[in-house]
Amino acid sequence: MSFIENRANGVTFMSAPVIRARHGFSTRWGGVSTGIFSSLNLAMSRGDDPCAVEENYQRLTQAVGVDAEKIALTKQVHGTQVRVVTAPDAALSDALRPECDGLVTAERGLALFCFTADCVPVLLCDADNGVIAAVHCGWRSSVADILGVAVGKMTALGADAESICAAIGPAIGACCFEVGPEVPAAAERLLREDLGKLCSDEPGCVGKYLLDLRGVNRRRLEQLGLRSENICVSGECTMCRTEKYWSHRATHGQRGCQGALICL
Ligand SMILES: [Zn+2]
Repeated sequence: MSFIENRANGVTFMSAPVIRARHGFSTRWGGVSTGIFSSLNLAMSRGDDPCAVEENYQRLTQAVGVDAEKIALTKQVHGTQVRVVTAPDAALSDALRPECDGLVTAERGLALFCFTADCVPVLLCDADNGVIAAVHCGWRSSVADILGVAVGKMTALGADAESICAAIGPAIGACCFEVGPEVPAAAERLLREDLGKLCSDEPGCVGKYLLDLRGVNRRRLEQLGLRSENICVSGECTMCRTEKYWSHRATHGQRGCQGALICL
């Protein structure tokens, strides 16, 4: 099953039918920010007008159908910490965000966010047992097994790996994700198997490889017990589609960011 493009309230966002909860992966389209942040920027600390960012959150949450006052955010640090959050953790304020790269909850009505601009956003949902997660999977967090940590925290709250569905969102694709040899080596250590088609030599570039980081995360979720038919992977590359998504690499860091959100 592939991703679907949705338009609501002037906002364009992506969703994956496999996830049986309100959710979305935002694009650049439908916000009020201007210049390099045009238009639906969700980053508060990259120099954009805070009022514009707040309006962007209002528009996106309304489009997806969640309460803008009940959202849990992260201060992402490319680690493996995943926090279980509840209603008192809801806050738009930058200062109150916990340092972590993943959020888990079993609470209805609380929306979890993660933010990306090339890294892999992963939303996890066990609708039967009422547990969800939003995880920011950059390559460092991915190879350090942040998805193993997230699935572990979900099962501790009553989720069952076999009934967890996963949506792996828009991210830098294998077409563009050039890495040195240490990255595929670390991914192989994580998966304890050959990467096969997930990694190839970059043509004409000695010592450089093209890595399918979404594919690595998909494989890890299968190893963690998720059914392959319950995992949906976006085919869009953020670096190829800079008119639709922010790409850290394509803009050399002059950018806003998109977000993925999910709510029971
Ligand atoms: Zn690409």
